[in-house]
Amino acid sequence: MKALRKLRRGPGHVDLVNIDSPRPREGEVIVEVQYAGICGTDIHILHDLYPKARPPVTLGHEFCGVISELGPNVQGWKVGDRVTVESAADFCRVCEFCRSGQTQRCEKRQGFGSGRDGAFASFAATRQDGLYRLPDPVSFQEGALCEPLACAVHAVMERSSIEPGKTVLVTGPGPIGLLVLQVAKAVGAMVVISGTQRDEERLKLAERMGADHCVRIDQQDLHPLIHELTSGMGVDAAYECSGAMGALSDCLQGVRKGGEIVQVGLFGHTIELNYDDVTFKEVQIKGSFTHNRGTWKKAIELLRDRKVDLASLVSGEFPLDQWEEAFRLFEKGIGLKYLLYPID
Ligand SMILES: [Zn+2]
Ligand SMILES: [Zn+2]
Repeated sequence: MKALRKLRRGPGHVDLVNIDSPRPREGEVIVEVQYAGICGTDIHILHDLYPKARPPVTLGHEFCGVISELGPNVQGWKVGDRVTVESAADFCRVCEFCRSGQTQRCEKRQGFGSGRDGAFASFAATRQDGLYRLPDPVSFQEGALCEPLACAVHAVMERSSIEPGKTVLVTGPGPIGLLVLQVAKAVGAMVVISGTQRDEERLKLAERMGADHCVRIDQQDLHPLIHELTSGMGVDAAYECSGAMGALSDCLQGVRKGGEIVQVGLFGHTIELNYDDVTFKEVQIKGSFTHNRGTWKKAIELLRDRKVDLASLVSGEFPLDQWEEAFRLFEKGIGLKYLLYPID
């Protein structure tokens, strides 16, 4: 089969090559890939900026498909089942974190597309307990976006404690920010989302997705608005989804005393900011990294109940042999999510 692989360490070294199709081991199934989404992690691996990548490895961790083969001791699944797949290919199952269900914290966690062969290929071998049935009305395109949706569900529903009627700020209307917005709306929060000049189109989409206030910070001052909306108290929670220092400053300034800041975006470098407000305001700063099995169940429920719109995030679909164009568009920030599909 054709597979898009990182062949060795160093910038570049990503190519479409022929490899043998995977065989299922005990407890595994083979998924015939329908779509796999391109994510920032894939770009980081391309440029050798993701230390967890272990080439040679097939890229792609946001995917869905149809079960095509069952390994020994697989129960509850059959050939032809439509599935989406948790992006953690494996974890140790015995450490403190695995035993408490926080598998995203396992030191031995291996992700598809970095530690294990991923889904920019025709077939992928996956553990049976990483599979989730795609509800009938959910398309394969939407199924491929369950992984970023689960990231947003983890940030909003598991790493923060917002309730209906609370006010939140989301900084950065990229794919994850737009999903965090939608999950926060599904929970019943009032959402302010902020972006910059280059986010014009994304903020329009945010409005269609239910944002109560969309702010282009080069045109409008964010903080008088937050002051007005919260009677001077500040937002209950802020989700930093941009990885930009100014956005984190906005979160620190905009959050109420005792409020929560959930860091979802990555900066990729050391940042400088006035941290004293964390003390003065008794802010709770929390990181949010990927998801676990409990998160995925919530994500699939939101999707099944049509509480979130994933289809509007898809900006294009490309066959695997046009990966370079899809990567280029994604990296330039043109559109939101691009999907790749197999060619053999
Ligand atoms: Zn991803
Ligand atoms: Zn573990």
